[in-house]
Amino acid sequence: MGSLTSFPPELLAHILSFLPGKDLATAAKVCKAFHEASKVDFVWQRCIHREFGVSCNSSLSPREVYTKLLHNYGFLLGTWQIEIKPYGGLVHVKFENNKLLGLQYGAPHDPHVEWPMMVKELFHVMLDEEGNTTISCLQGPQGPHKGQIPLLNASAARFMSKCCCPDLHRHPQGREREFLEWCREEMGMSEEDIMFQHMQELLFMKFMIINQYQFCYVYKKLTIPPHLPDQLVAPGLFKGTYGSHGLEVVLLTYDRNYIHCKKITGDPNVPASQLSVLVDTKKPLILDEEQQVDPAELARATEEADKEEEETNGNSASCNTNQPQEGGASGSDHNVSQQHLPQSQPFAIPEGFRERGINYPKTCKMRFCGTGLIAGHGFTSPSRTPGHFVVFDNNNFGFLWLELRSLSVYSRVMENLD
Ligand SMILES: [Zn+2]
Repeated sequence: MGSLTSFPPELLAHILSFLPGKDLATAAKVCKAFHEASKVDFVWQRCIHREFGVSCNSSLSPREVYTKLLHNYGFLLGTWQIEIKPYGGLVHVKFENNKLLGLQYGAPHDPHVEWPMMVKELFHVMLDEEGNTTISCLQGPQGPHKGQIPLLNASAARFMSKCCCPDLHRHPQGREREFLEWCREEMGMSEEDIMFQHMQELLFMKFMIINQYQFCYVYKKLTIPPHLPDQLVAPGLFKGTYGSHGLEVVLLTYDRNYIHCKKITGDPNVPASQLSVLVDTKKPLILDEEQQVDPAELARATEEADKEEEETNGNSASCNTNQPQEGGASGSDHNVSQQHLPQSQPFAIPEGFRERGINYPKTCKMRFCGTGLIAGHGFTSPSRTPGHFVVFDNNNFGFLWLELRSLSVYSRVMENLD
């Protein structure tokens, strides 16, 4: 030890900076030289970057930030799905100055898939000059108030946030005003828009359920896999059109030859966490414009792709019956190859399909057979129905629901939620 402690303090600090944060605190107790070296800021800055992947830009000491804030609450960093049945929700927790800030990302107003996400502050865990951490709920019109994040099992794939003052979430002008403001802000709906009874019922149900949950949210960790070189579309989050339910968020991932689009937000028919779109990349389609506008021709092309794939692979699965394989490895062994397919083909919406004024490109890169999940209200009688997955580019794709005769379009969430 004698030789180590005789090192110049900056060299000792450099050596200590390789230690995990929990060992740094122990090392500081070994001797005076270690104690002094452990007080150097960059030792902790380096440790914070290595263990939490963030840069410590705080006005407070990095040692305090590590020991009082990140050591206990750093596991919150990253992307989460809120467990609100059936609606779900997307949350990202980031580190900013002296706090961890939980932000909810809502889909923009229907049908503007290309618009940015709507961001709302949910909670923060803040470290003050005195070294105290405060947890606050940031919901409601009246500013920060007391909140809790029970540390049941830190670093687990789940956590919970609670509000201690639910009354502060209420609108001062009463419940009806609160509902109308919520419709305007969250859904982009005016009072005239919500005169339709069906729409009014859907909105009111969503408003009531979200209100019940907002005092205690449970979050489930979301992992977005990296983009592998031969993947046609990079994995990630997308906003998509879901008819009268408005825009919803899906997570696109790969599992062998399949592309999965799982709902991160959902609706009373098909809830969050369900596999909305399943794409079989072994069933590519090349169709000219004439074939594309004729629904009968589309059904025939889908059947042929099924048959061809069966003959090639001796596989009895068809587009209509493919079942997702839950928990499969993402992107590890898929073989979506673009080598023998054209880089571009025309894209046209079939006659009689609903497109709801959506702007869509007139060409696409690839088209595949797939299935989409449909269900009655309350997720009754769920079934997979045939469709075509149409790749416009890395950030935009569409799904043609052949039997429902409609087109959903999806656009990548561009906000950085890594
Ligand atoms: Zn609150």
